[in-house]
Parts: sequence; C-alpha cells; structure tokens
Amino acid sequence: MTDSKIRTRYAPSPTGFLHLGGLRTALYNWLYARANGGEFVIRVEDTDQARHVDASVDQILESMKLVGMDWDAEPVFQSKRGDIYQEYFQKLIDADMVYPAFETMEELEDMRQKAMAEKRPAVYNRAARDMPKAEREEKIKAGVPHVWRFKTPLDGDTVVNDMLMGGDECRFANEQIGDFAISRPGPAGEPVQFLYNFVVTIDDALMEITNVIRGVEHLGNAAKQILLYKAWGFEPPKFLHLPLILKGGKKMSKRDTDADPRTPVSVTARRDLGYLPEAIANYIALLGWTAPDENELLSLDEMIKGFSLDRLSKSNANFDEDKFMHINSWHLRNLSDDELVKRITPFIEEDGYKSSVPWLSEAAALVSDRCNLLSDFSDALSYFYALPEDYEEKGVEKFFKTDISENILGTVADKVEKIEAFEIEALEKMLHDTVEEMELKFGKFGPVIRLALTGRMQSPGLSEVMHILGHEESVRRLRVAADYIASNNLSSAA
Ligand code: GLU
Repeated sequence: MTDSKIRTRYAPSPTGFLHLGGLRTALYNWLYARANGGEFVIRVEDTDQARHVDASVDQILESMKLVGMDWDAEPVFQSKRGDIYQEYFQKLIDADMVYPAFETMEELEDMRQKAMAEKRPAVYNRAARDMPKAEREEKIKAGVPHVWRFKTPLDGDTVVNDMLMGGDECRFANEQIGDFAISRPGPAGEPVQFLYNFVVTIDDALMEITNVIRGVEHLGNAAKQILLYKAWGFEPPKFLHLPLILKGGKKMSKRDTDADPRTPVSVTARRDLGYLPEAIANYIALLGWTAPDENELLSLDEMIKGFSLDRLSKSNANFDEDKFMHINSWHLRNLSDDELVKRITPFIEEDGYKSSVPWLSEAAALVSDRCNLLSDFSDALSYFYALPEDYEEKGVEKFFKTDISENILGTVADKVEKIEAFEIEALEKMLHDTVEEMELKFGKFGPVIRLALTGRMQSPGLSEVMHILGHEESVRRLRVAADYIASNNLSSAA
C-alpha cells in the first residue's frame, strides 16, 4: 500500500439492473469510505458478458447516483485490462504456480460424481499437476483445449480474516479448495480468458483496495483470492462478508426479478413506484447496520456520520416491506412543500393531472400524511381537480339518505357564499357555528359536507379542503350535492 487511506470498491457484474441487495453492498462500501475520508471506486466486472453491458452499466450507475452516491474515479472496466491480467498470469507461469489441465467437461463431471460417491471433496483430482513439461507442451501445440489451474498447497488451511464472520466458516482446508481454475476452457493460441477470482485479486491489489465488503456468498472465493494474493506477493485487503438478506424467509438473490410489481427488487423500479431515493438508501442501510443512537430515520449525511463496521450485524437481515414503506412516508413528510411538489410532479402528470395549478403545493402538503408513496398523490389529490362522477356509495347511503342532508348542504352553501374573507379560520368558525345553530352533532354534519366536496368519506379537514377548492367551487359543489339529493329523492327515502 502506498498510503493508509481507506479505499473501497463496488464491483458489479453488468447483468441487468442494480438490485436492492447490490445497493446494500455498494452503500456500505461507500459509507465506510465517506465516513473515514477514504475513496470509493467502481469496477465493472464485464469479462464474461458479451452483450447488453452498456445499458446495464448505465442503469447501475444511475441507480447509485439516484440514492446520492458518488465515486472518486472513472469506473474501471475489466474488459479493458487484458494486458494487465496477461502480465500477472505470466508471473504465475514463471513461478510455476499454475498449470494447464486438459480434461474435458465430461471427464470433470465424472470425476466430480466419483469424488462425491466416495465422500471426497468434489474438487479437481490434480491429475495434470505433475504432467511432464514435454507432454504439456505437446498438447498445447496440438491445440488441445485446456484450463489453467492454480497450485493450491496440498495440505494446511487457508483462513479468511473476516471482520464480521468468524470461526470455522472462515477456515478452508486447502484440500477442499483444490486446484481451482483461473481461466475458462479454451484452445491453445487463443487469448486466455481469466476467471473471477484471478482478475478480482489483481484488480483489488492494483487498485489498492484496503477493504472488500461484499456478500457472504463470496466467503469461499476470499480463500482462493488469499492464495492468489500470496502467490503474487500482494498484501490482502481486509475482508468483510455481509450476511444474507431474507425476503419472505427466502434468500434475496441478485437473480431475483421484478416479479411482483408492488415489491420490485430493482432500485429503479422502486423509484418508479414512488419510493424516494433517500428512503431507499435509508431502508437498505438498515439491512444489517444500526446507527449509534439506534435512530432508524436517517439522512445520507447522518448515515455517513454514524457509519462504522463494528455496528454491522452478524445475523441475516429480514426485508420488511412495511418498514420500508414506513421509512418512505417519513421521508415524504420531511420534504419541504416546494420539494414535495417537485417530486410528485412526474407522478401526477403521468396520471393526467396538471402540476401548474396554483394550489398544488397547499393541497400536496395537506394530503401528504395520507400518502406513503409518491404515486399515492394522484388519487389523494384527484378530487381537487374535479368532483368525482359518483359519490362514494356507502356515504350516500349513510349520509345523503337522511332527512337533514339537503338542509345541511343548503345552509352551508348559503353561508359559504356570504363569507367575505375566504380563509381557513373563518370557514372553520362558520362550520362550528352552523353545527351549533342546527343543533347537530358534528358526526352527522361533517360527513355530508365532506361527501359533497370530495365525493369521499375520508379527506383532510373541511375548511382546508374548501380553501383549496376556492370560494366559487366550494359553493358550487355544495349546491350540486343538494340538487343530487333532491333530484334523487334521497331525503324522502330516509
Ligand atoms: N462481480 C461480483 C458480484 O457481483 C463482485 C464480487 C466481489 O465484490 O468481489 O458478485
């Protein structure tokens, strides 16, 4: 290491979108770097992806930016590092630490079956490890397909000094690791295509990564990587493997797709559903980490301030949709009125509602505690745009079909019409006085007005709603409802 600065990385395979589980890995690496004045970089592991890489990389980077992450250098692409890998491959050949093995896929499969039947580790039997040099060279010359294998020590253990995991799960018998392949099968003469453990080790070493934080499924790979670090004389980074994320009791996998449209696993699909980027980051950060004060409602800055590896949990995390939604609604309520309007605009416009109306900010703030997602606002705001075609049926039965409903609406309409200062307080006082004058309970009175103004049985405060609807429209709606009751003979049906 040239300096002691913390340097972390996120190393996505560009196979599709950024998964919420991948986001957790990226976020922890980023938070750790940011919390310690370190650097965070991205390495795209694109050696075995033939197509669709660009779109996938774009989507992954977009998702990371979305939640507020940044990186300290241009992303590195493994596909552009062939010369470097070749150079380090040559070092292993020169040190006699790798050898070509010529078994076919079928032969390897037979070997595996046999090992399993005999209860031996299902690893390569090292048949080619001691093949005479001349024989090797002859086969290579003849173009026999082969893989290159690493000479793992024949005995002893390799221990991964993991910062979170511990004990036997981190100790790997070299016999179990076996002489793993570092390249894909390929005929002689063609460039060697190197495999994950080989390239990752070179990259992490040359990129001076100090801490590798990633999913526990890579713990076994860490052992192989440690052997490679030693082979090249590199100092291994500190490893930290994160426990699983369970969803509905099952492992959440990067291969999961967005099967259920209400609970997608990609970052961008959550955004499109109306989750706030800050809430996505907040919830995902809690899948295995707790803030020092155990506060669960956190901004990105607070997460950076409180982040440390010793507050990571060793237990699997449970993905809890209700909690995710709760955190989202908390962040929603935390937005300024202007910001809220900005955020809901694409959602309501998509549903055909104009965002240029002058009352949007007031209305959005008013309904925001009835909304969990940005996509909930269209419905919550709809009656401000137009009186619904139908009044809620249950409401009609319960509140319009009475002998006083028409009277209530007529009285209030007259009073609203006469109000000079059309302000919330004045409206409130008027409603209050009217209930008293009519000697009614508010429970019999309020819902009639509400139904008339909004078509619904649930809404924010009546005076607030009227204030947004405006003087004329409020009166009009009250009269329309009175007419509706009269023309349908609802009062007499009571
Ligand atoms: N490309 C690997 C993955 O997506 C990265 C593993 C690592 O971080 O070393 O799982």
